[in-house]
Amino acid sequence: MSPHAPDDNPGQLTHPADLVDETIRSLKQMARSGCTGFDTPPAALETINRWGRPHAAFPGGTAPDLSGEDRETLQAIRTDLGDCRRCKLCNGRTTIVFGQGAEQARLVFVGEGPGAEEERQGLAFVGKAGQLLTKIIQAMKTTREDVYICNIIKCRPPGNRNPQPDEIAACVPFLKRQLKSIQPEYICALGSFAARTLLDTDTPISRLRGRLHDYMGIPLLPTYHPAFLLRNPERKRDVWEDMKLLMRRMGIEY
Ligand code: URA
Repeated sequence: MSPHAPDDNPGQLTHPADLVDETIRSLKQMARSGCTGFDTPPAALETINRWGRPHAAFPGGTAPDLSGEDRETLQAIRTDLGDCRRCKLCNGRTTIVFGQGAEQARLVFVGEGPGAEEERQGLAFVGKAGQLLTKIIQAMKTTREDVYICNIIKCRPPGNRNPQPDEIAACVPFLKRQLKSIQPEYICALGSFAARTLLDTDTPISRLRGRLHDYMGIPLLPTYHPAFLLRNPERKRDVWEDMKLLMRRMGIEY
């Protein structure tokens, strides 16, 4: 359960981080509905100008771009990725798994990297773990088509080994561009590679999960990877708690 949104009072925002997240979400919703700005008193502007949300992975990073005017398209990012040879995984891969789903999804799921079935189909999360993810998405009363699904790395490591730091370093800038393009309201990081990479931390997933973190101004919820759930079904309960937190925050009734 989130320490910020107690179960017995789901509608109430009790923590400053909740207020910030909720304000960002509302502003993004307004931007999506066509609002390009509003009058702001000079004193408030001065305060806003002092804000900045630098992140270790983005030195000098800024708050999310709400205008969408200079938004790079996913297609442009895919084109730039091309027949990528930026790391050694290109030697063994047959297909780049870029990610798929809604270009302006409210929610993006980020996993680790493609497995055999994903490589065969060229789609993220379509193997056994993917089938479980589909069930989780459906339990959240949404669909795979309404969210965006991608990974930290886009090529299958040999024998499904863990991604190595140089491979993550080569690939993650593309994921970050995808997230910047989609500008989701929420990110769900599936498993420790996704959570630790995006949050730039070594903290174990068991300690990260269960509450919202910040990724470049976007609330990010780490949770267990579906493949881990297949091996440890008793952890499904934790993931459901995490998803309920997300649903509450997204205004989805359950
Ligand atoms: N595991 C992942 O992390 N990603 C996939 O796409 C499939 C399995």
